[in-house]
Amino acid sequence: MSKIVTRFAPSPTGHLHIGGARTAIFSWLLARHYGGEFYLRIEDTDLQRSKQEYTDSILASMRWLGLDWEGEPVYQTRRMDLYRQYVEKLLQSGNAYWCSCTSEEVDAMREKAKQLGQKPRYNGHCRDLGLGPGPGHCVRLKIPHEGKIVFDDMVKGRIAVDVGELDDMVIQRADGTPTYNMAVVVDDHEMGITHVLRGDDHVSNTPRQILIYQALGLPVPTFGHVPMILGNDRQKLSKRHGARAVIEYESDGLLPQALVSYLARLGWSHGDQELFSRQEMIDFFDGKNLNPAPAAFDPAKLEWCNAHFMRQLPLEELASQVRPFLERAGFAKISKERLLPLCVMFRERANNLAALAESFRPLLVPAAELACSEKDAKKQFTLKGRDHLEKLKAILAKTEPFDAASTDAALNAYVADNNLKFKEVAPPLRTALMGFMGGSHLNEIMDFLGRDETLARIERAIGMCPE
Ligand code: GLU
Ligand code: ZN
Repeated sequence: MSKIVTRFAPSPTGHLHIGGARTAIFSWLLARHYGGEFYLRIEDTDLQRSKQEYTDSILASMRWLGLDWEGEPVYQTRRMDLYRQYVEKLLQSGNAYWCSCTSEEVDAMREKAKQLGQKPRYNGHCRDLGLGPGPGHCVRLKIPHEGKIVFDDMVKGRIAVDVGELDDMVIQRADGTPTYNMAVVVDDHEMGITHVLRGDDHVSNTPRQILIYQALGLPVPTFGHVPMILGNDRQKLSKRHGARAVIEYESDGLLPQALVSYLARLGWSHGDQELFSRQEMIDFFDGKNLNPAPAAFDPAKLEWCNAHFMRQLPLEELASQVRPFLERAGFAKISKERLLPLCVMFRERANNLAALAESFRPLLVPAAELACSEKDAKKQFTLKGRDHLEKLKAILAKTEPFDAASTDAALNAYVADNNLKFKEVAPPLRTALMGFMGGSHLNEIMDFLGRDETLARIERAIGMCPE
């Protein structure tokens, strides 16, 4: 097989959303699977709505997702001369013509066609007039009078469209700019694209683009139109469904590998495997098994997926990934020696990096600043609770060395010697140390806090108990 070349072609009119991200992932995977090339093209010809900040944001999201591309991104606005050259070729070969019809005239033709029960279309008025360029003149493609455009879509299977359904479309506007379909064909050809994967909102453009390829005598790439991602209620996906821009997932503390694995599964399958490493996706994604039915976005499953990847991450990497979130939570200067045990204690309990960083908070603030749950304090800081805390305080003051093993032994001895149950003793201690009934193993917490901080927290809790 010859080399597979794909691209992702976002319009920089907003941040990268999960629908676009999934299209990008598929295109990237197809190229990587076959050892091909993947390019990025910024479709910025809509000058009103395109913004540099969105281009920057899309590129940043692509990098964050790990979707690397070949060379520099191609910007359509920098290629206007190229598009004009191709339009010129079509004029020269008689496959395109100048049209002087005003938009009112074209509207009237469309209206008339509708009244005749036909598709609204341009009636070919200028097709054989032999007009040249002039103010207000656009260029139209001279399409065949009859025939079928047939292509085998990678997702939807065979698609056939009657040429009679189409009309002599504009390829260059009166202001000299190319229309969307013209620019895309020129770019995809010039960039050597062999496989075009895109959202199925573009499927009706494809027969028009194929007509342009044919008129230019160029090979037609393979197309694949990926269905939309819907919300859980099968409605058009929106914020309401918990869908967010890729940069928002980043700041929520999702791992990029989790988002990539989750999105790849939306509309693609490999047996019933749910979670994929990057390499597995590259190995398995061969462009088949793409589902023509729209997939539904499930935020809970994404979170589950993220929790899985967080658990898989080597400890040191998890620590360095959580650091920016810790800084954001106000803990800038935590040494690695302190950060690693925090990650060990809490990694199983958090579903994203932001939540993980936040779960460290009770162990990082000084005793006096520890937030205390009113509900848990009321339940645990009782007369009985006070008694346990006072005795534990005396024991822990003398426990040597003050580490996880000996604090554990001390705690167990206190329970056994006094004929108590662990679940009578642990809750008041836990609430004293964490400020609420959560956290990790008590001995690990105490080991992390050290003796002084442990005793200070117990002391403070005793002060909150009735006398
Ligand atoms: N710029 C188009 C979009 O964002 C992509 C079109 C294409 O991939 O051909 O929907
Ligand atoms: Zn005309």
